[in-house]
Amino acid sequence: MAKQEFKAESKRLLEMMINSIYTQKEIFLRELISNASDAVDKIYYKALTDDSLVFNKEDYFIKVTADKANRTLTISDTGIGMTKEELENNLGVIAKSGSLAFKKENEAQDGHNIIGQFGVGFYSAFMVADVLTVTSKALGSDVAYKWESEGAEGYTIEPADKVTVGTEIVLKIKPNAEEDNYDEFLEEYRLKAIIKKYSDFIRYPIKMDVKGKRPKEGEDNEFEDYEEEQTVNSMVPIWRKNKSELKDEDYANFYNEKRYGFDKPLKHIHLSADGAVRYQAILFIPENTPFDFYTKEFEKGLELYSNGVLIMDKCSDLLPDFFGFVKGMVDSEDLSLNISRELLQHDRQLKLIAKNIQSKIKGALQGLLKDEREKYESFYKAFGRQLKFGVYNDYGMNKDVLQDLLLFSSSKEKKLVSLEEYVARMPEDQKYIYYASGESIERIEKLPQTELVADKGYEIFYFTDDIDEFAIKMIMSYKDKEFRSVSSGDLGIEESEADKKEAEEKASGNKDLFEYMQGILSGKVKSVKASKRLKSHPVCLSTEGEVTIEMEKVLKAMPS
Ligand code: ADP
Ligand code: MG
Repeated sequence: MAKQEFKAESKRLLEMMINSIYTQKEIFLRELISNASDAVDKIYYKALTDDSLVFNKEDYFIKVTADKANRTLTISDTGIGMTKEELENNLGVIAKSGSLAFKKENEAQDGHNIIGQFGVGFYSAFMVADVLTVTSKALGSDVAYKWESEGAEGYTIEPADKVTVGTEIVLKIKPNAEEDNYDEFLEEYRLKAIIKKYSDFIRYPIKMDVKGKRPKEGEDNEFEDYEEEQTVNSMVPIWRKNKSELKDEDYANFYNEKRYGFDKPLKHIHLSADGAVRYQAILFIPENTPFDFYTKEFEKGLELYSNGVLIMDKCSDLLPDFFGFVKGMVDSEDLSLNISRELLQHDRQLKLIAKNIQSKIKGALQGLLKDEREKYESFYKAFGRQLKFGVYNDYGMNKDVLQDLLLFSSSKEKKLVSLEEYVARMPEDQKYIYYASGESIERIEKLPQTELVADKGYEIFYFTDDIDEFAIKMIMSYKDKEFRSVSSGDLGIEESEADKKEAEEKASGNKDLFEYMQGILSGKVKSVKASKRLKSHPVCLSTEGEVTIEMEKVLKAMPS
């Protein structure tokens, strides 16, 4: 029997592939601009090795032109261009990347930034266009060629007129369909926004003819129309600039431009790592708590760039939950991307970066605590709760990262105190780190349980946040000192023989009274005893075991 060939609806297949790879149509512009940038990079590398070629940076650019009347969008570049064979091989064969081949051939050369590798990005143009026309003249060639296609059914190639070396791609933008709006890809403001979003840091200028109105010279209240060529992208990303060239203000502007928040950053962290994984990052600690920060709606994450091109808006894997308030971006040339360049193939590099970033954030916060106390306290008011939750969650796994960043009110000073500060000034005979929980500092100060500890001159942490005591239970001890609630049965406070004797006498002398009281309170308290810790108060409650009265209250309030 003769073998039958499969008949695939190739055009539909291409559409399906493209539409399942990319989540957003606007991505096509990123892909075509990335290709144009690669083409310019290639001519630049050629110039590096070929003395007969001179590379004048001004001559190299990418231009985006929209023509509403004809529904065309043109992306042209002054890059290396394509020969007839290259048009056939690189555009005619899906999943063939001329750029990957170029990178392999030129491996010896350092620092190339070429983006392409999968050989599918070009076809993303079919998401928004019915017809693609590519006219190209390769470097060193006298003839130009035109490649044209309406999708996977095929393409045509014929000689064409093109004077300059480079490539011009014309997209015939699809007509608007019921749910799909394609007109937007002919709108100047929209195109500008897409370029800014994805391609702002392409290293060559991306130009557009921009129309506008401006005040007429010499005449009041009169305006004139104008059209001028503008460069839309910023080209050199701030994170590639030298730290010494940048002022706080530049970082604040970047924060603002990127809309990381409506506030000002409290602190920025500019990183440039050259070790096991290379990356640059600018991270911000915001001044204020975002309004939705402590809600389910809040999404943590950093922007992720690969070689200056935006890959992901909010990469959550880069931040642990407890540093979820950090805003900013990471750019790395070492990421392995998947075919859509949207998600990451392997996350080994990402994990390394995340780990690195975590320790840098911790370092920056510790620096703030040490050198800019006021700023740190203001940070802590906004995000301290998140740190305490971080200690409590994951069974205290992260306590080593976080414990030095915690602050609590205390009986000694009317300011927040760190664990380190507390322990450093503990008298020698003090066994434990004491704390008392309550709704407010005023109420805690009135607690009879605090009396004995305070009387000994020991400092007491005041826990007013529900999470405080739970977090501290995870830490268990700090610098070998255990935490102890002032209402715990054993406070570890030494007493003199005389005191002991007096207490015993009081206890045995009032035995009947205590038994009587216990009878009345039966079922409510375990026992009634003479207390050694009371000074001026007549009575107090104390607990045995791990769970204190305050914790019981919180646990009871939680939905079960
Ligand atoms: P990739 O960029 O991942 O290689 P694409 O589908 O985007 O895949 O592009 C396929 C190939 O077509 C590129 O590798 C490159 O060789 C060639 N190409 C695309 N656009 C251009 C251009 N503007 N100038 C020169 N070559 C191009
Ligand atoms: Mg590409």
